[in-house]
Amino acid sequence: MANNIETFNMKVRNYNDAVNRGDVAVYSEIGAEMLRMALGECSKPGIGEALKSQYRNQCDHIITRFMKDSKRAGVPARAGAGTEAVDPYYTEKDWFSDDVPELNFTDIIGVQEVKDAFMVDVIAPLHPDCREIYHTFRGDQLGTQILLYGPPGTGKTHIVKCLAGALGCKIAVVQTSEILASIVGVAEKHMRDVFAQASELDRCIIFIDEIDSLCSDRDSIDSRNTKSILTTMLTCMDGFVKTKSPEQLRIIVAATNLPWKLDAALKRGGRFEKQIYVPLPDYSARKKFVNIELEHVPHAEDVTDEYLADKFDGFSGADIKAAMRQIANRPLRREIEHILRERKGAQGEVITLGDCEAVLSSYISVTTPEMMEQFDIYRRGL
Ligand code: ADP
Repeated sequence: MANNIETFNMKVRNYNDAVNRGDVAVYSEIGAEMLRMALGECSKPGIGEALKSQYRNQCDHIITRFMKDSKRAGVPARAGAGTEAVDPYYTEKDWFSDDVPELNFTDIIGVQEVKDAFMVDVIAPLHPDCREIYHTFRGDQLGTQILLYGPPGTGKTHIVKCLAGALGCKIAVVQTSEILASIVGVAEKHMRDVFAQASELDRCIIFIDEIDSLCSDRDSIDSRNTKSILTTMLTCMDGFVKTKSPEQLRIIVAATNLPWKLDAALKRGGRFEKQIYVPLPDYSARKKFVNIELEHVPHAEDVTDEYLADKFDGFSGADIKAAMRQIANRPLRREIEHILRERKGAQGEVITLGDCEAVLSSYISVTTPEMMEQFDIYRRGL
């Protein structure tokens, strides 16, 4: 049986035949099918770089041909697209959801320094009493560009959503890996769309997650593509946060778990010159995370927030939540087994110390001591 790349290559041959016959309807259809197939294959976990590159190269080739062929065959350009031919692989996306997140700064646990930084940089300038002084020091740049860095799961995305909620702003969450999965040319278009849609809003936040993926190693296969997307983003960013009226507020926040991978061009003045470290939760923050989870689940008396906060040293907020879910699942499973076996009601199972220890002994936290050391080195170098 033919494997997927063979099926794909067969489509390439059919596409070329249709182009040679001048059969626009057929080659448009096959071209679109090929792209869908390539995107599907490339997003499968574990696909090797070599195979990915084969798909990408063929798609680049097909797009270029399709654009040329569609012009030659007189395929009408998309409305509003000027002389540009229809790009069958591009559909404009609404980057900004209609709703402002229903979150506030009070939904952020711990990370007081991060909250303070946002307060000074983003919230206070909006206060009528502070406006003049900000204007004196910052001129017309009320908005800001911030890079959040820190271990995974420390709440970088969550914090930005809370900021949007607090400011009543719409937010576009740009997953860089998602943009990168687009075909060359289309990825840049998506990036430009994000900024074009943002410029129509008075207040907005553009959140660019995993920004390190735009800074691939020079020698990697994807280097040329990522560089071009990075350049597009930097061009769009230039001057974007400058406010043209007092109602306007434009904020760009990027996040990364790998700040040392970032291209120097990104950290230059006027770009992400402000970098904020989002640390792992301290003892008191860990207690808060635990309390929120324990509040609604029956637990033994010796399962205290102090005990668990101690055990969760080195865990991120996301890790604590995940581990607490696993812990709560154990008495739940016992209850379910009892109910199904005895055909009676619940028997009053609770989380025990044994449940906590069983989960903690096998839980693998994403954050490693080596990773924390890398953050220390990076912060010392700033
Ligand atoms: P990151 O972007 O740093 O990888 P996320 O924002 O995706 O982390 O965090 C995942 C989840 O963990 C969030 O949706 C939130 O429920 C929880 N979380 C992590 N850190 C915090 C925090 N400081 N305050 C509140 N919730 C948090």
